[in-house]
Amino acid sequence: MSLAAVDQKRLQDFLLNIRNKTDQFLGYPVSKDFDFQPFADFLDLPLNNLGDPFVESTWKVDSRQYEREVVAFMADLFRAEKDNFWGYVTNGGSEGNLYGLYLARELYPKAMVYYSQDTHYSVKKNLHLLGMENIMIKSQPNGEINYNDLHGAIKMHRNRPAIVFANIGTTMTEAKDDVRLILEILEDLVVTEKYIHADAALCGGLAPFISPRIPFDFQDGVDSISVSGHKSFGSPIPCGIVVAKKNNVEKISRSIDYIGTLDTTISGSRNGHTPLFLWYKIKSLGKKGMQKRVDSSLAIAQYAEQKLLEIDIPAWRNDNAITVVFPQVEAWIKEKYQLASANGITHLVLMPSIKKSQIDSFVLDVSR
Ligand SMILES: *Cc1c(COP(=O)(O)O)cnc(C)c1O
Repeated sequence: MSLAAVDQKRLQDFLLNIRNKTDQFLGYPVSKDFDFQPFADFLDLPLNNLGDPFVESTWKVDSRQYEREVVAFMADLFRAEKDNFWGYVTNGGSEGNLYGLYLARELYPKAMVYYSQDTHYSVKKNLHLLGMENIMIKSQPNGEINYNDLHGAIKMHRNRPAIVFANIGTTMTEAKDDVRLILEILEDLVVTEKYIHADAALCGGLAPFISPRIPFDFQDGVDSISVSGHKSFGSPIPCGIVVAKKNNVEKISRSIDYIGTLDTTISGSRNGHTPLFLWYKIKSLGKKGMQKRVDSSLAIAQYAEQKLLEIDIPAWRNDNAITVVFPQVEAWIKEKYQLASANGITHLVLMPSIKKSQIDSFVLDVSR
């Protein structure tokens, strides 16, 4: 197979352009520090992790053994019970959130879903797809859910099961809803049929390494967690991991057994390369390497916040966040650094590979 010269040239230009754009961005929570050249040979193979990663299949061109190890590693980080977890490598955080809501709906079909104003935009659509009744709860100014408003809303529907969609790092301000406070509210109102899903798209890879501990995992009381793979870990292809309690998943796979299949995942054909990439990240970094990356991101975030304050930009951060928030900047700066903005604010997300020199150039541009 060969390409015409003009097409080759086009791809070459595109490569340079994308490299440049990757170097420049500071506003999206996507890691850039990876090298998957050792996996080039796998691009010539039709890997496909069809179906449930924990159930044997007649299709053998898969990486499901690696996928199971990735899920087990994350389950351990999220302090799931040793023999009571299940999960799979998704196409991203959104699919993991969809899966968590789907599982919750199968367990509690008559439940009301509660989520804050600052919840990711994809959740509303997924609730619509699943046909789940839901109530949006006010947020506090820092982006965290307003617990009084949550208490009031659940109280009005206390005769129904409650599904709380908790944010462990909101998109704009990296605010973390406190899972223990949410549980206290449910207990106070004696809502015993309850399910908490944690959207830890960004922070699932960070929170386990932050002290004091952030209450967000299975031991803190959640029932499922979704994390993005391309955010805190880094991957050339978007991906994620969802982890849920095995005993809950079995309740719903039984009802699917009934119609003759074990189609437990959202998609049928699934990416077989991304589990390999995640496995490689996990094996090469280890918990120690992950800890180091988180510490250095936090240090750079603190540096960026301080540098912006020094030029009188009212920048701030949530506790132990790698996201620095400040008022909207001029359009050319927003374009140059690919900064997301909403409601008059914008942010930098200090992913592991970002260097002080990049912050210095950014601050210089802002001060002009
Ligand atoms: C990025 C993000 C998502 C969506 O994750 P994808 O991996 O892009 O699908 C969901 N929720 C939050 C809070 C996010 O930051």
